[in-house]
Amino acid sequence: MPKRSIAAADLAGKRVLIRVDVNVPLAEGAVGDDTRIRASLPTIQHLIDQRARTILVSHLGRPKGKPDDKYRMAPVAKRLSELLGQDVATVGSVVGPDATAAVERLAPGDVLLLENVRFEAGEEQNDPALAKALAALADLFVNDAFGAAHRAHASTVGVARELPAYAGFLLQREVDELSRLLDQPERPFVAILGGAKISDKLAVAGSLLGIVDALLIGGGMANTFLLATGVEIGASLAERERVDDAKQILAAAKATRKDILLPVDVVIATDMKQPGRIVEVAAVPAGESIFDIGPATITAFEQAIAGAKTIFWNGPMGVFEQPQFAAGTREVAKAVAAADAYTVIGGGDSVAAVEQAGLADRIDHISTGGGASLDLLEGTELPGLAAIPDIVR
Ligand code: ADP
Ligand code: MG
Repeated sequence: MPKRSIAAADLAGKRVLIRVDVNVPLAEGAVGDDTRIRASLPTIQHLIDQRARTILVSHLGRPKGKPDDKYRMAPVAKRLSELLGQDVATVGSVVGPDATAAVERLAPGDVLLLENVRFEAGEEQNDPALAKALAALADLFVNDAFGAAHRAHASTVGVARELPAYAGFLLQREVDELSRLLDQPERPFVAILGGAKISDKLAVAGSLLGIVDALLIGGGMANTFLLATGVEIGASLAERERVDDAKQILAAAKATRKDILLPVDVVIATDMKQPGRIVEVAAVPAGESIFDIGPATITAFEQAIAGAKTIFWNGPMGVFEQPQFAAGTREVAKAVAAADAYTVIGGGDSVAAVEQAGLADRIDHISTGGGASLDLLEGTELPGLAAIPDIVR
């Protein structure tokens, strides 16, 4: 569904509050991977070109509703200034007199980045008082934070009720691209799931099964499924209390003739600092853990990927941060990049792995939203998106 777009708004001279997702990794006080900052540039540049007074707001990390110097926005403002080629002002607060004064100093074409919105306890509670205070800074609101669209917070949902609300270019593009996966995808449609957020993603595995032809499961996710098939997995990361859910998903796959591919071999070690060794999946000793998929599994996954016409991938195949457990993720990334298919990758770590491998430009769509992309595919309404009016045709 197309949302009311910022492209159609009259912006000249207006104070425009824009929720962006510039929640980037920080390393020693500087921005690490700046993918999310870059992704938010088109909308910001449009506001600058239209001579708006641009007021950016975002969260960064997980400060617990109060100021935390580790999570100040200054490094982000610096990187943003470099990328835009113009100064981005900062202010030490989100709302209140200093923020108001900083907004008053903006001339048309200027850009201000407010302080980390999660310094305010009202943000995650979607407190109407914070929403009203944010709204008081601006004439209109733009949401371009796809990565936060699955959260009903003051800066995503609350403020959208207080001001005329519009979708930014990134938000709309994310929705358009991900909708392609739901709207008559070319088949076979293969989804690859991995990573460590098992309980979050189990529900997704179940609902993805309804739209895909095959589900390839690796990473920490696979372990719970292996348990469900009666395989013992030693000390591997797993959620034993969710084994029944995994069993149900396997049964549903069988009933609907969908393929679920699980690892047939794995790379194990006593801990992730040790070198790994390859064993068949049935041969994981007690006290050792699975940290990657093995070569035979890689081959099987590569074959499924090579035959696909639509691919969605979320979650690394192993502990790819450690070189001895990175092969599964790297080879799957290569296979996805090489596939003659429409390819979408979401999830912070999966995207980082693809960036590291230098393959990002060979993927059709890299989503800036992990949780948001999964919710959208699951059919869960994204509150941040729902808060923006649809275009009525
Ligand atoms: P994403 O950010 O792509 O959504 P997750 O956050 O769910 O992915 O998971 C990423 C993490 O999962 C990585 O830090 C990786 O080391 C970890 N991981 C992957 N496979 C395993 C495994 N077998 N055991 C433990 N951790 C794993
Ligand atoms: Mg992650």
